[in-house]
Amino acid sequence: MSYVIIGNGVAGVHAAEAIRRIDPDGEITLIGDELFPPYCRPMISLVLEGAVTPDALPIRNDRFYDDLGIAPILGSRVEDIDVDNRTVKIANGETVPFDKLLIASGADPRPIKAEGLDLKNIFYMRTEGHVRSMLTALPKVQKALVLGGGLVGFKAAYGLMRRGIATTMLIRSGHPLSMQVDAAAGELVRENLMGRGLDVRVGASVTAFEGRGRVERAVLADGTTLSCDMAVIGKGVLPALSFVPRDKIGVDLGVLVDAHQETGAKGIYAAGDAAESTDIARRSRWVNAIWPEAVDQGRIAGMNMAGRAVAYPGSLSRNVIRIFDMDVMSGGVVTPETDSVYDVIHFHDPKRKRYRKLVFREDRLAGFVLVNAVEQGGVMLSLIRSETPVVVPRERLAAPSFNWSTLLPRAG
Ligand SMILES: Cc1cc2nc3c(=O)[nH]c(=O)nc-3n(C[C@H](O)[C@H](O)[C@H](O)COP(=O)(O)OP(=O)(O)OC[C@H]3O[C@@H](n4cnc5c(N)ncnc54)[C@H](O)[C@@H]3O)c2cc1C
Repeated sequence: MSYVIIGNGVAGVHAAEAIRRIDPDGEITLIGDELFPPYCRPMISLVLEGAVTPDALPIRNDRFYDDLGIAPILGSRVEDIDVDNRTVKIANGETVPFDKLLIASGADPRPIKAEGLDLKNIFYMRTEGHVRSMLTALPKVQKALVLGGGLVGFKAAYGLMRRGIATTMLIRSGHPLSMQVDAAAGELVRENLMGRGLDVRVGASVTAFEGRGRVERAVLADGTTLSCDMAVIGKGVLPALSFVPRDKIGVDLGVLVDAHQETGAKGIYAAGDAAESTDIARRSRWVNAIWPEAVDQGRIAGMNMAGRAVAYPGSLSRNVIRIFDMDVMSGGVVTPETDSVYDVIHFHDPKRKRYRKLVFREDRLAGFVLVNAVEQGGVMLSLIRSETPVVVPRERLAAPSFNWSTLLPRAG
């Protein structure tokens, strides 16, 4: 059996390991366009902030490919999949045949439309290579602009602030981390960041960068200009699927997969940021581009590819973020649409900057946002995952002493 995996990230690596555990003799080829060994992508922001050096990033040692009998093809981009003839084509024109194929190509930064994007010192922050380039530029940087207040934009801004660089964050939406938290928690995050010196501007977007060779200023949609000697674009990500033939393999935002991570094309699977599976809390298809789901999906895809039928229970968005002295945790549906099937309760203690929001769908917890009161976040995630009915007054879940036993109806 020959297995080909596109993507040398965490989903691809876990798939390869799962295949090898079940099939000791199959040929496994792992194709990746980065040259680095597999590394912890979320930690690149710690490299930016100076908390760790790049040598802390690898998630597998140098012997990984040899030990598992994997043939790596690194520094090569897959350009096409021939579904009928069961081959993938890589950039040098070579074709690699497969019996089973995994698409684990992750995501690319969402591009923006602005003039002057080719100026020096304008970066995306997705790869180790990006952060290495940023580190080279940093010594001469005094003022930085971060476009986007999502997880990556936020981490970029945080890292630059920790380096002592005057940083402005431009957000089109109303608050930072708009995919992770609701408006009330986002406001607490914004206040905290502003209090620490980050200049956060909402409703702002860049139409052009200007400078002589290197970025010197950005022109905003309202005509204002902001001087800067570095810009980081962190406006979210999109599944990296340019090589996927959409007439043969179903794609919505990500590659559509069934409960076994298999696409509609038999023997072709997808996992990680590239895949769109069922979201447990939303009860609909969703791309949850987070590390733990990439691990699980990769492992489960690998098992299924090697012939062991294992179902993936579905993905669940979740985040734990520390922002200076503020703890934020969220999971599931955090901002339900008004007039939707969800009920919301929240508790806000402005003095202590504590906030708890719980989102219910019928009698089940479907999501939550916790600020500075994150203690039972793990229990809440379990409640969502297990779809446990909440038959006690919902307010009990918001109490600081809440635990599993609180969920039992009280006698009398
Ligand atoms: C700065 C940052 C911070 C993050 N923080 C968090 C966090 O705190 N918590 C969390 O859960 N998640 C976080 N994430 C997200 C997390 O890193 C991803 O969900 C995870 O890495 C996805 O793994 P993956 O294997 O699906 O994709 P990737 O890690 O992107 O790996 C895919 C690989 O495939 C390669 N590839 C793409 N196209 C091709 C092609 N055509 N040919 C060959 N190779 C190709 C890519 O270059 C890449 O090496 C963060 C991400 C970033 C960038």
